[in-house]
Amino acid sequence: MSDVPVARTSQSALEIGITMEEFHGPHVKPPREGHLAIDWSGPTARCKSVRVRGHTCECLPTVYELCAAGGLGHIRRTEKLAKGDRVSESPWLREAEVKHLWRNLLEGDAR
Ligand SMILES: [Zn+2]
Repeated sequence: MSDVPVARTSQSALEIGITMEEFHGPHVKPPREGHLAIDWSGPTARCKSVRVRGHTCECLPTVYELCAAGGLGHIRRTEKLAKGDRVSESPWLREAEVKHLWRNLLEGDAR
């Protein structure tokens, strides 16, 4: 009764074609010189039904999520600190603007 199929999980992940990149999610690039400083503020809890459209890799100490709610979007930042998570939000923007900001964040042009 002791032959627990430990290896099976990773094997099936390979079988369905998950690459490590997809498994991890994108890593944000280091901020470039002259990057846009995002006006982060405390979480507003403005809308309860927020959909997460994308997120950066959870292996890094700061995780960013692209959130959409009520026709607007924003980026949520979670910093994993020793005393717990600190969550902040970018300004709420129109969908096209927040997608642009998300791309800039990933590329190191905004932080
Ligand atoms: Zn990673």
